[in-house]
Amino acid sequence: MLTIMQLVSYLVIALSTLYLAALVFGWFQRSRVTAQMANADKALFEAQADLILERKREVQKESELSWDSFRKFELVKKEMEATDICSFYLAPHDRRPLPPFRPGQYLTFKLNIPGQKKPVIRCYSLSDSAYNDKTYRLTIKKVPPPRDQPDAPPGLSSNFFHDALQEMDIIDVKAPSGHFFFELDRPHPAVLIGGGIGLTPVLSMVNSMVDAGYNKETWFFYGVRNRGEHAMKEHLRQLDEAHDWLHMHVCYSAPGEDDVKGEDFQNEGRVSVELFKELLPSNNYDFYMCGPPPMMQSVVADLEAWGVPEERIHFEAFGPASVKGVKQGHEADEPKKDSSETFTVEFAKSGQTLQWTGEFDSILEFAEEHDVAIDFGCRAGNCGSCLTAIKDGAVELVQEIGADCEKGSCLACVSIPKTHIVLDA
Ligand SMILES: Cc1cc2nc3c(=O)[nH]c(=O)nc-3n(C[C@H](O)[C@H](O)[C@H](O)COP(=O)(O)OP(=O)(O)OC[C@H]3O[C@@H](n4cnc5c(N)ncnc54)[C@H](O)[C@@H]3O)c2cc1C
Repeated sequence: MLTIMQLVSYLVIALSTLYLAALVFGWFQRSRVTAQMANADKALFEAQADLILERKREVQKESELSWDSFRKFELVKKEMEATDICSFYLAPHDRRPLPPFRPGQYLTFKLNIPGQKKPVIRCYSLSDSAYNDKTYRLTIKKVPPPRDQPDAPPGLSSNFFHDALQEMDIIDVKAPSGHFFFELDRPHPAVLIGGGIGLTPVLSMVNSMVDAGYNKETWFFYGVRNRGEHAMKEHLRQLDEAHDWLHMHVCYSAPGEDDVKGEDFQNEGRVSVELFKELLPSNNYDFYMCGPPPMMQSVVADLEAWGVPEERIHFEAFGPASVKGVKQGHEADEPKKDSSETFTVEFAKSGQTLQWTGEFDSILEFAEEHDVAIDFGCRAGNCGSCLTAIKDGAVELVQEIGADCEKGSCLACVSIPKTHIVLDA
């Protein structure tokens, strides 16, 4: 028979053994979790280090392979993507490898269009992955005359690309540039937004993400009127199906009778912040957007109202109208510039001294009004054609620029005088 004392000591031994076992098990579990965390941290660190190294290699390759001024390119393929939207594949005529570009950047073209006295300069975004060193792809929408002026000439460059340019033709192209681009090592998940032909830079971003093996949560919103305008439909559907991290939403603002919700598009209506609020778990994203002025105006303003910090909203405008539109929407609450501020503007080469009274949007418009010749292309601070030396005084920029602007000069299409100025024009 066991005495009570013996029973108590057995119980104490049993409990202590259990306690010890629990301690050992706990320690074992903790060290396993710690090891797992250390492994995860190591993998994350290695992935980040790989991205940084990769970026360094790209920057080096970029500077080795890039070129100054214009380089000859051959049109190697034309492919219709939707009504009046066509892709153009360009290969360098010298067949040397292409420098990597940053997804979202654009090319600047110098086109000799029959009937034009001077070459026409225009910018077009690169629409495919940045990981292709053989060809560049552009996707261009044919621009008709304005609705209220049906007799006006149609868009010069877009119609030239669509109707005149043939495979094997040679054109002059500047190296990729622009500050609207996506960096794959950004810490936050992204929302990419394309409206109409503004799809092109964000398409390049998503294609580059896929080629780079990127897998961070990404939302992609594409707004068009209907199926007729829906470019790259099959390609986008396949991307959506193949990648869990990618959430694709196509919005039709005016679906046709045969357009099927759930098949052709996901949402009826325009791309809007209301839709983001319905679908996104929070506003904690980097937003990249390119589209027509009304869409950009409303989305930028509504994102800010939703509390998205300005530095996390990135957008590209495709021309002066878009730029002005977004800026006007953006700055609606800001005090208007005092239009009574007048400055003397001296155009040294043409020998004219004029009074700036603030009623023009840019020095370029002011010069044109007074028949002072300044070259121009995109009129949006991107192509660099209107670069003009400032001999005296200072200017201020009315919007962010994509082209390089050397010290002591200004891009006349997006600058206004800040003091009395003397320009080399
Ligand atoms: C950075 C950047 C990237 C871009 N990327 C793309 C892209 O990927 N895809 C794309 O399609 N576009 C893109 N664009 C827009 C592109 O550069 C051109 O602005 C667009 O193709 C129109 O140029 P265009 O020469 O065809 O038209 P323009 O000749 O410049 O004409 C513009 C409009 O003015 C009208 N017009 C012309 N003359 C008159 C007149 N006398 N009176 C009244 N109206 C007149 C035309 O009918 C047309 O509607 C981009 C622009 C920028 C700045």
